[in-house]
Amino acid sequence: MYDWLIVGAGFAGSVLAERLASQRGERVLVVDRRNHIGGNAYDRLDEAGLLIHQYGPHIFHTNADMIVAYLSQFTTWRPYEHRVLAMVDGMLVPIPINLDTINRLYGLSLTPEELAPWFAARAEPVPEIRTSEDVVVSTVGRELYEKFFRGYTRKQWGMDPSELDRQVTARVPTRTNRDDRYFTDTFQAMPAEGYTRMFERMLAHPKIHVMTNAEFRDVRDVIPHRRLIYTGPIDAYFDCRFGRLPYRSLRFVHTTRDVARHQPVAVVNYPQTEAYTRITEYKHLTGQEHAKTSLTFEYPSAEGDPYYPIPRPENQALFKRYERLALAERNVWFVGRLATYRYYNMDQIVGQALATFRRIDAQLGHPASG
Ligand code: FAD
Ligand code: UDP
Repeated sequence: MYDWLIVGAGFAGSVLAERLASQRGERVLVVDRRNHIGGNAYDRLDEAGLLIHQYGPHIFHTNADMIVAYLSQFTTWRPYEHRVLAMVDGMLVPIPINLDTINRLYGLSLTPEELAPWFAARAEPVPEIRTSEDVVVSTVGRELYEKFFRGYTRKQWGMDPSELDRQVTARVPTRTNRDDRYFTDTFQAMPAEGYTRMFERMLAHPKIHVMTNAEFRDVRDVIPHRRLIYTGPIDAYFDCRFGRLPYRSLRFVHTTRDVARHQPVAVVNYPQTEAYTRITEYKHLTGQEHAKTSLTFEYPSAEGDPYYPIPRPENQALFKRYERLALAERNVWFVGRLATYRYYNMDQIVGQALATFRRIDAQLGHPASG
């Protein structure tokens, strides 16, 4: 008899398994339908011996010291600040849009003080910023919106930015200075030996058992357990009884090239051309030295594994209907990006899982007395 069955060995499931076993001494079984742990953050050595991310580039960044302290029990870190270039009008320019982006694209030599009014002269007034189009056109105007955001978003999401909540493109800021980092968080680093190694250490507790290649449906009635943590898609848990919640998928094409370096930074975005959205070159993230280099091309798709909840009001309304069912389930907790239908980064999922643990711990009391 397990105290807990945990569905999903990604950040949400692994953090909770680790906390329940190490802090409450409970017996935990973690199952994942995939043949590995780590969820979407899984990384592995490819045939050439290069460390790649199976599900696209995962860059760790956070402002929460508490989350860094928690994960640092299971990994050391390699400092890494993410930089991205976009192929626009045949040029590779920095994204987020900054002073250098504008000066290079338009052959100008504006100063930071001059750039703010330059943007203001182009920005379109939008009475209420609701959509992902509103966010960008109200900041930098329609021309830059079309060059950098419209095409990329249409590819990535299969819909126009005007149909998506503002939170999607609001993830990418606009800057009037020359800061060309993708993120400005206080902590930015990669797990020194990779994500999978970090997950192995998290799950290496005598009270945790892990079963990969195990589908929840196939084990739920045959493995006795007292409580359940579910980190898969919330609609699937309820057999999609209100209809399917939309998730966006991707097809990842991994390839190794016989050159030491393919592109100047880890990620190059293609907002105007190509069927793929971006190319990742992992050596920039990992610092690995090798005569060859491995790349991933991301082709967005409607079909396939669910990777992204799609932020739009009608999807949120459907999620809320499932959430009401979830709240009524006894002894079941729904955690993670798929089960709470939130476009969360890794650090936010770790924070959500740690908060869930605190709630569980308070609700159940000490295992010996409760
Ligand atoms: P997941 O990692 O999705 O884990 C859920 C697990 O549950 C999966 O392994 C799945 O196989 C398993 N599962 C589901 N249903 C079942 C079932 N019925 N039976 C058994 N197992 C099941 N975040 C960042 O912070 N930085 C980044 O740079 C970044 N880049 C990203 C790039 C891409 C392409 C994607 C898709 C995401 C990116 N993220 C990034 C987000 C990050 O992947 C997530 O925040 C995080 O992995 C979510 O963890 P999770 O445990 O909630 O879900
Ligand atoms: N985006 C864009 N052009 C870019 C980069 C981002 O249009 O060059 C938009 C796009 O809609 C994307 C969103 O901004 O889905 C968020 O970008 P982010 O890089 O955070 O996406 P993720 O890494 O989560 O896929």
